Amino acid sequence: MSGNPAVVMRLVASAYSVAEKAGAIVRKVLHSGDLGIVEKTGANDLQTLADRLAQKSICASLSRRFPKITIIGEEDLPIEEVREDLIENGQAEDILQRSCPEQYRALKEEELVVWVDPLDGTKEYTEGLLDNVTVLIGIAYGGRAIAGVINQPFYNYQLGAEADLGRTMWGMLGLGAFGFQLQEVPADKRIVTTTRSHSNKTVTDCVNAMEPHEVIRVGGAGNKIIQLIEGKASAYVFASPGCKKWDTCAPEAILHAVGGKLTDMCGNAYCYNADVKHMNSAGVLATLRNHDYYVSRVPQSVLQALKSD
Ligand code: AMP
Ligand code: MG
Ligand code: MG
Repeated sequence: MSGNPAVVMRLVASAYSVAEKAGAIVRKVLHSGDLGIVEKTGANDLQTLADRLAQKSICASLSRRFPKITIIGEEDLPIEEVREDLIENGQAEDILQRSCPEQYRALKEEELVVWVDPLDGTKEYTEGLLDNVTVLIGIAYGGRAIAGVINQPFYNYQLGAEADLGRTMWGMLGLGAFGFQLQEVPADKRIVTTTRSHSNKTVTDCVNAMEPHEVIRVGGAGNKIIQLIEGKASAYVFASPGCKKWDTCAPEAILHAVGGKLTDMCGNAYCYNADVKHMNSAGVLATLRNHDYYVSRVPQSVLQALKSD
């Protein structure tokens, strides 16, 4: 692509660099040894210094370059001047070079909404389950998640000090997804991935109703979508409120870019307009293939429980 890249391509290219900077912040806070943990709604809903600094870095960097875009971040932070060392000005060159899908070429800044989860998997971050942690930047237009960036700051951390730590994945509808090798679980095997720290009876009833051959319990919405696209799990099943729009926007865009699907437990799409409620009250069901099978297995009692929320 020559000359003047489309706004949305510039935004994804910036989000890529900004997510890498946020990932570096998340690593630095861990190595400092002082996580600055605060309970939000309770012991299973935490915020650390890394969540706060990463969100400041992401939101300030993007809004400086794209002042008309609506940016919605998970953390409730006081409005204050952001330190200059938290600002990232880079843009991923290879993303700028790509041709923008026709349907997004004319999009304007003010039509875009960015959903930011500066650190997904905070509970696991505080417990040292570091590969569960991701930084999520999702981009929505017309209520749909159209592009997303996921940084996994501690990718490869089990390999020790010499390992090249961290990676960044991104994707866009009509373009595909990059930064990982797409793999599928064999079609005759159902591996369900679900929450490890926010479970309840409805969640487990629903997981069991899928008749899984195997259940994996890990932290993070971003992490579970990575499992789907890398052939570690066939379905992400979370039949409970708790996940918010910033948890699902970037993962949904990347999953959809490779032909997968993320919906509520009834099979309905979520909307990512700026004015929607943040909670994904009807749960999260995500798959790379065979979405209809999993929707068809959700028990009536589970649907009823979610509806009454
Ligand atoms: P999990 O699969 O439990 O790691 O959850 C995925 C995302 O949803 C994380 O960002 C969690 O913080 C969030 N989440 C899920 N359930 C809850 C809950 N009951 N309270 C607060 N956050 C939740
Ligand atoms: Mg999250
Ligand atoms: Mg978070």
